[in-house]
Amino acid sequence: MVKIAFDNSYARLPEKFFSRINPSPVAAPELVALNETLANELGLNTEELRSRAGVSVLSGSAIANGSEPIAQVYAGHQFGGFSPQLGDGRAMLLGEVIDQNAIRQDIQLKGSGQTPYSRRGDGRAWLGPVLREYVISEAMHALKIPTTRALAAVTTGQNVQRETALPGAILTRVATSHIRVGSFEYFAARHDYDALRRLTDYTIARHFPDAESALDLLTAVCDAQARLIARWMGVGFIHGVMNTDNTHVAGITIDYGPCAFMDSYDEMRRYSSIDRRGRYAYGQQSEVIVWNLAQFASALIPLIDADQTVAIAKATKVVHDFPNRFAAAWLAEFRAKLGLSSADEADKSMIDDLLDLMAAGQADFTNIFRALAAGNARDQFDDPAGFDVWETRWRTRLAVENSTLAQQQTLMNKTSPAIIPRNHRIQEMINAAVEGNYTPFERLNAALSRPFDQSGDYDDLKRPPTDEEVVHQTFCGT
Ligand code: AMP
Ligand code: MG
Repeated sequence: MVKIAFDNSYARLPEKFFSRINPSPVAAPELVALNETLANELGLNTEELRSRAGVSVLSGSAIANGSEPIAQVYAGHQFGGFSPQLGDGRAMLLGEVIDQNAIRQDIQLKGSGQTPYSRRGDGRAWLGPVLREYVISEAMHALKIPTTRALAAVTTGQNVQRETALPGAILTRVATSHIRVGSFEYFAARHDYDALRRLTDYTIARHFPDAESALDLLTAVCDAQARLIARWMGVGFIHGVMNTDNTHVAGITIDYGPCAFMDSYDEMRRYSSIDRRGRYAYGQQSEVIVWNLAQFASALIPLIDADQTVAIAKATKVVHDFPNRFAAAWLAEFRAKLGLSSADEADKSMIDDLLDLMAAGQADFTNIFRALAAGNARDQFDDPAGFDVWETRWRTRLAVENSTLAQQQTLMNKTSPAIIPRNHRIQEMINAAVEGNYTPFERLNAALSRPFDQSGDYDDLKRPPTDEEVVHQTFCGT
């Protein structure tokens, strides 16, 4: 029997927060990946997890002692429209453990069968999106960006029917919680203010213990999201489906559906097949998060002040402050990417001008910043003369920094990755895995675990896609 020291708190909340539901067993589970580092952090026994009994648990075919599987209910604004009831349609929270840093972590299966919230879905996932989430979420972690994690991936030995029959798989996701803006919207829409209060208290205790009120919680969530989106912008990450049910209240990246890292820079870059109007395009992310935070604020209104007018005024003030918080976080991010430790009034326009040059020349977002650090960026620009003018400005600015050139380079190279999970490499990895070849998957994980490191034989992973290799669209992976 697999021993996991579960300590489940969400399952102690009122029953209306979730449905108790067991995963559906699968035919022939096989472990394809186990994140040993993460398992160790969680205090789990990797040998046990690799055993037959362990794989049974990771595939939902057996329930570990102390596990109390639940599907969490939530609501959400999807592309602007409100769905009053969503919920885990293909995910189940097995339980929580306290990790080695004394942090409470959810252990969740994704793709483990139908739940009361599956609507017309089969509750399953196929191998492609499971490995995609595994690789990209772990890459985000290595980039030091707050995110859900991937503990394991198993194949089920069963096909799932999408446009064609595809190999079924299950991801074990780990997160500091799965509380979304949509979790609050669910109770607010039902005018269930007792439940809303419970959820608020729970969220404060779990994520923001210094917060003393719903207004404090709103402020803390806005702050966490401002920092998160600035980090996304800094690595060229496009979430792709920033619906409020995919917006985590603790400001961690969640829901790796049609997400993508951009290759050539374009502020309006988008990949998601369902984002036709670019609502969630790269440069829109800091705008649309405000919209999402406004929905969060609306949900909290009844808890902010007994006088609704006063509550709205207080909440509005906090949400309206978001652009300032974000601008500060964005500037800090891009200053570091340019080797700057101090602040100058003109930095913003200098960064904007660089991005304009990059956009004009369709420059590779990731490689440009590494080339700037290495001092060989010139030939990556369509307009080298234009770059020369900009470079003089930048060098002049660097010269007044209180740091050496070597220190500036170090700062740049630890802020701008050399290796990102490029879309065409992800695609290639999935194609190989479907054929039973997991070598590209393992190689990607190895390279992406040290994204700032130039060593290692990974030139192919650093190279932008050729015209033939460019991935134009990504999919939700349902
Ligand atoms: P997502 O786009 O991944 O955020 O999913 C939106 C909603 O659809 C969530 O409530 C999911 O649980 C649900 N969903 C997605 N795929 C499936 C599926 N294959 N079976 C059941 N529910 C699903
Ligand atoms: Mg989702």
